[in-house]
Amino acid sequence: MQSPSFHVQHYIGGAFVEGTRRFEIFYPATNEIIGTAPEGRAEEVDAAVQAATRAFAAWSRAGAAERRRVLKAFADAIRAHAEDLERIETWDVGRPIRENRAGYVQRLAANIEFFADFAVTHGSEAYPMDSGYINYVLRQPVGVAALITPWNVPMLQATWKIGPALAFGNTVVLKPAELTPIGAWKLAQIAHSVGLPPGVFNVVHGFGPESAGALLTQHPGVQLISFTGESTTGKIIMGAASHTLKRLSFELGGKGANIIFADADLDRAVAISLRSSFFNQGEFCLAGPRLLVERPIYDEFLQRFITATQTLHVGDPMDPETTVGALIAPEHLQRVCSYIDIARGTQAEIVLGGDQPDLPAPFNRGNFLNPTIIVGVQPQDRVCQEEIFGPVVTVAPFDGEEEALAIANGVAYGLSAVVQTRNLGRAVRVAGAIDAGTVWINDFFVRDLRVPFGGMKQSGIGREGGHYSLEFFTEAKTVCLSNQ
Ligand code: NAD
Repeated sequence: MQSPSFHVQHYIGGAFVEGTRRFEIFYPATNEIIGTAPEGRAEEVDAAVQAATRAFAAWSRAGAAERRRVLKAFADAIRAHAEDLERIETWDVGRPIRENRAGYVQRLAANIEFFADFAVTHGSEAYPMDSGYINYVLRQPVGVAALITPWNVPMLQATWKIGPALAFGNTVVLKPAELTPIGAWKLAQIAHSVGLPPGVFNVVHGFGPESAGALLTQHPGVQLISFTGESTTGKIIMGAASHTLKRLSFELGGKGANIIFADADLDRAVAISLRSSFFNQGEFCLAGPRLLVERPIYDEFLQRFITATQTLHVGDPMDPETTVGALIAPEHLQRVCSYIDIARGTQAEIVLGGDQPDLPAPFNRGNFLNPTIIVGVQPQDRVCQEEIFGPVVTVAPFDGEEEALAIANGVAYGLSAVVQTRNLGRAVRVAGAIDAGTVWINDFFVRDLRVPFGGMKQSGIGREGGHYSLEFFTEAKTVCLSNQ
C-alpha cells in the first residue's frame, strides 16, 4: 500500500494553523514517516485557550438543545467518514483495521451523540423546605476544558471527553498524544465541516513535558483537565495544576486480573481471555494481562489458551485477516521486550512468543511482537506488578476465592477485572471484593456510557460517564428561593 503523507495542523479559533516547529509521524507497522505535525508552543497554546475563552460565552448560553443540534451533526459526519477514520486510526496506532471495522467508528459517534442527548434530559434538582423555601440546583458549564489523551485508542479517548465537555456547555482544547496526532486533526476537520462555532473545539498538538501538554496544565485560562495516560504523568499534572486549582479527572494505568474459576465455561473463557489479553495488541488500559486460573483446570486452560493464541495472525494491520498489529514505537517495543528479558532472568518460563515475527518487507521494520505467554511467575514479580502495555500476559494457578482475590488486589492499580465462573454467588462475592472501577463477569469490554468509568488506587481519580460526567463537567449552583 502506498504510504500517505499527512500534513497535520492545529485547529485554533475555527482555523487550521501551521505552527512553527514540526515533528515527524511514523507508521508503527513499518516505521516509515507518514507525515508531520506542528508542536504547539506557548503562543499556540495561549491562542487556543483564548479562542476557547472567547467562544465560551455564546456556547455556554446556547442551551443544551441547540448544542445537541450541532453535536448530532458532528456525530453524523463522523459516521459518514467511517472508512477514512478506520484507516487513519490504523495509520496512527498500528492496530488491525479489522478491530476498527468492528464498531469503533460507531462508538466515536456514540460518544458525542450520547452526551448531547444526556445534557438535554438531565440536570435539575429541587429541594423544597418545610419552611416554604425552595432550593434548586443549576448545572452550569465550568469554562475551558483541557483534554489530554494517550496514543492507544486516540479517537475513542478524544470523543469520550469532547462529547460531555461540549454537551454540558464547556469549550475545549484537545492535546492528543504526540505519537498519534492524525485522528484529532481529522476530527477537527469534521467538526469544522459541520459548522461547530469557532473556538468551541480547538486542537493543539505537541509533546507532554515542556511542551503543549505541560503548558495547558499550567495555563490560568484552563478551568478543568480531563487526562488519560500513565499514572506517573497524572502525578506530574496534579502538581502542575495545583497552582491554579484546576478541577481534575484522571484515567490512568491498569494491570487487570482475569480470574478463571474451575466451573467456568472453558470455551468461552478462552475466547474472552484472548480478547482481554491481545485486543489492540495488548496496548489497552482495560486489558486483563494477569490470568489467574483455578488449579483443577489450570493445565487444560493453559493448553487451550496457548492453542487459541497460536491462531492469531500478526502482521500488516491494513490486512483484514490480521488480528495483532504493531506496537506504537520502537522504544515502546523495547520496553515491552525488557519485561520478557526480566522474566527470562527468573524462575518463569515463556511458553509462547517472546520473539518478533518474521515478516516480509516493509513490515520487517515495524514494531511487531508475537503474543507472549509467561508462566511460573510469582505475584510479586515485576511482570505481574508493572504495566507492560503489550501482547504479554502471565498465567498462574490459584487455590480458592481468597487466594485469587489476594493476588488480584496485590497490585498498585485498580482499573478493571474479569471474573469467569458459572457460580452466581461467587461472581457477586468476588466482583464486590475486587479493587477495580469496572468488573466484567463472563465477558470483557462491554461499555455502557451511562455507568461510572474510572479507576481505584493508582488507576485514577474520579469517574466519568452518564451523570458522573455531568458532575465533572459542570458547576452545581444552589439557588435558594424565598416564598416571602
Ligand atoms: P502518557 O501519560 O505518556 O501520555 C498521555 C498524554 O499526556 C499525552 O498526550 C502526552 O503528551 C501527555 N503528557 C505527557 N507528559 C505530560 C506532562 N508533563 N504534562 C501534560 N501532559 C503530558 O501516556 P501514554 O503513553 O500516551 O498512554 C499509555 C498510558 O495511558 C497507559 O498507562 C495506559 O494504561 C493509560 N490509559 C488509561 C486509560 C484509562 O481509561 N484509565 C485509557 C487509555 C490509556
